[in-house]
Amino acid sequence: MFTTHTSRDTTPRQTVVVLGGGYAGVTAANRLAADRGLDVVLINPRDHFVERIRLHQWTADTGDPRHPYASVLAAGVRLIVDAAEHIDAAHRRVRLASGTVLGYDLLIYAVGSAGATTIPGAAEHALAICEWESAGRIRERIATLPERSAISVVGGGLTGVETAAELAGLGHRITLVAGGEITPGISPRARASTRATLRRLGVIVREHTVVHRIEETGVMVGGPDGDAEITGDLTVLAAGFTGPDLARNSGLSCDDTGRLRTHASLVSVDDAAIVGTGDAVVPDGVHTRMSCQAASQLGLHAAKTARAQLAGRPPTPAHPVFVSQCISLGREAATLQVTHLDDAPARTVVTGRAAVLVKEYVCRGTVWGLKGLARMAGRPNPAAVAEPVEVAGV
Ligand SMILES: Cc1cc2nc3c(=O)[nH]c(=O)nc-3n(C[C@H](O)[C@H](O)[C@H](O)COP(=O)(O)OP(=O)(O)OC[C@H]3O[C@@H](n4cnc5c(N)ncnc54)[C@H](O)[C@@H]3O)c2cc1C
Repeated sequence: MFTTHTSRDTTPRQTVVVLGGGYAGVTAANRLAADRGLDVVLINPRDHFVERIRLHQWTADTGDPRHPYASVLAAGVRLIVDAAEHIDAAHRRVRLASGTVLGYDLLIYAVGSAGATTIPGAAEHALAICEWESAGRIRERIATLPERSAISVVGGGLTGVETAAELAGLGHRITLVAGGEITPGISPRARASTRATLRRLGVIVREHTVVHRIEETGVMVGGPDGDAEITGDLTVLAAGFTGPDLARNSGLSCDDTGRLRTHASLVSVDDAAIVGTGDAVVPDGVHTRMSCQAASQLGLHAAKTARAQLAGRPPTPAHPVFVSQCISLGREAATLQVTHLDDAPARTVVTGRAAVLVKEYVCRGTVWGLKGLARMAGRPNPAAVAEPVEVAGV
């Protein structure tokens, strides 16, 4: 056990290392920080929390997703700005990119998701919206584009639709390319309203259109009207999420998209000392969706399971519930699809200003939630550190 003692306290302490400081990882870390018997260490590649659900706003300069960790992390959580490169489950150690090796009693795997780039030419000629660094590159590129430039957004899911609408607000000519219908998870009525708003914003929506290849000059597609090239100055990729390579490269069981396979309790199917959470996991028999909505709940459950594992109690299954799918359509419109708890669309659809206000409240609410958990665990962490710490037992 990687235990430590403080000078005043003779109770053995246990170490929980959390990989990934997004919604799920910060939620789990803050929750565990309330437990005085634990040392909680959070590893994240940057020194600020990224409100990922605002990345499309960052590209269009309509919102800033950065929050200092000092404002969202509980006092007891120690932050190391670094990236995990390898998990040695047999010896309960993690190697970081800096070369530092940390030991743990329990590991929380919360590394989120990355953009899928399986379309030929995507890696060379497109920029993905889904991560902080690549969203920053889109932002820089857009800042250099002349007015009324042509931008293709590939991917008709929630992220692609939000991105297309946000960029249309800059006055560029946007084409949204979707392999099937846009926003497949919402009701036909909500989809029709979303389509109508996109058209009003000037977005050309090409549904049932498959992208064969992405080139420097544009996107080669095949659709109802045959094969064609959609020429453009920039191609933005929002064609689905995959799990980062870390779990697979560490020999842990993953699904086809690289997400860590866990039991319903979120305990890894390979190792009782690894608990997964957020976008990065696929829990057996649990309906979840890669979303901030699920990540926050799974973060809480990961903390609960971690405590059970450390105490030798049986963990309980996770059961995330859903209430809505809320899609921003620029700054003046949104579609709020109310859902049943199992994420199936309900009858109620809200649009217009009311939906805009709810969407903004939801975005702010997730960050308020993190700050609230930090306060419950003690107080926000004014000295969230950006340097490695030594973890005893390594
Ligand atoms: C533009 C956009 C809009 C979205 N809008 C919505 C929305 O409206 N509603 C909704 O519910 N969801 C939305 N999502 C999805 C949502 O953002 C994700 O589902 C959510 O962020 C998942 O949370 P997470 O904590 O699992 O992962 P993340 O928030 O991605 O956090 C993971 C963290 O782990 C870090 N990390 C990665 N690899 C390592 C490593 N090796 N070592 C250490 N740290 C690592 C990452 O850098 C990141 O900081 C949107 C996504 C995008 C891109």
